[in-house]
Amino acid sequence: MIYTWHEKLWQELLARKNSLPHALLLHGQVGTGKRDFAETLARALLCESPGSDGLPCGHCVACAWLAAGSHPDFRILQPDSEAASETIANEVAKDDKEKKQSHLITVAQVRELIESISLSASRGGRRVVLLYPAEAMNVQAANALLKTLEEPPPNCLFLLISHQVQRLLPTVRSRCLKLAMPVPSHQHALEWLAGQGVAEPHICLAQAGYAPLRALALNDSDYREKRLAFLSRLEEAKNADPFAIAEVSEKTELAWVLNWLQTWIYDLVCAQATGKVRYHLDFSAKLMALAENVDVLQLLGFQRDLLGAQRSLHHPLNVRLLLEQLLLSYWQIMNRKQEGARVRE
Ligand SMILES: [Zn+2]
Repeated sequence: MIYTWHEKLWQELLARKNSLPHALLLHGQVGTGKRDFAETLARALLCESPGSDGLPCGHCVACAWLAAGSHPDFRILQPDSEAASETIANEVAKDDKEKKQSHLITVAQVRELIESISLSASRGGRRVVLLYPAEAMNVQAANALLKTLEEPPPNCLFLLISHQVQRLLPTVRSRCLKLAMPVPSHQHALEWLAGQGVAEPHICLAQAGYAPLRALALNDSDYREKRLAFLSRLEEAKNADPFAIAEVSEKTELAWVLNWLQTWIYDLVCAQATGKVRYHLDFSAKLMALAENVDVLQLLGFQRDLLGAQRSLHHPLNVRLLLEQLLLSYWQIMNRKQEGARVRE
């Protein structure tokens, strides 16, 4: 599917579909539809009778193979963890499996790909390779791919998708046509979300850092319920028991909890500095009140601890202990300053 904010770019690429360079680098903010765009482009190029709008027909043999994930001329290169997250619905199972899965695109994957595309196209036409996200390639994998990008096989299109284009090797970047993927305006994103049936689009969009697809994904009843429960605990600055809260929060996906803490702290700092919050609009009044009596320097120090925890997200760790440490720090910061404020009164 092509999102409305990508339509202009879609038309531009279609107009030159027979003279595309051999590698495109689609880069931009996470959660704005880059991968859907790339997949639709791949399907459209492989479809045997695309419509007048350039979209894949959905009926031909190629489209049937693409739908079944078995088209011989379409390859997706992605970390094991990405592939798993598409197929495993059960969160707990996903969590256990993820710990053992690679978050990298490995040199072995790249070599295997190069070997397979050195064979001639199975259907005699174009071949398309999608790399998602391209920054998941480590240096060895990127170097292995580089040789192919320098001397590309005929009729092969590489679609590299990147959320953090600066993390790619400059040599890889320079071999691709770079496309900065458009993002919708704030109003456009709100209208699109409302059209998708999201009840409170402005609240969802803010939580998602203003990325519309991410906002749509967050409009999930389980996620919303857990977020409200966790943030309601954070707003109780006094009489909170960090250990009890760590115990409850352990049952929630760690990535969510860390994200809520990070954005909550960001909002506290933002509220004190600018009188506004960025992420949690539905807790705005409470955040403003809490921010009045909090020490920003301590919050910034805590934000660094959270970033450290974020980096260790993919490694096995003692989740309960981590949550206890983080939540204890949070309530120490919140209470210390409040006690100070009371003394001054
Ligand atoms: Zn088709």
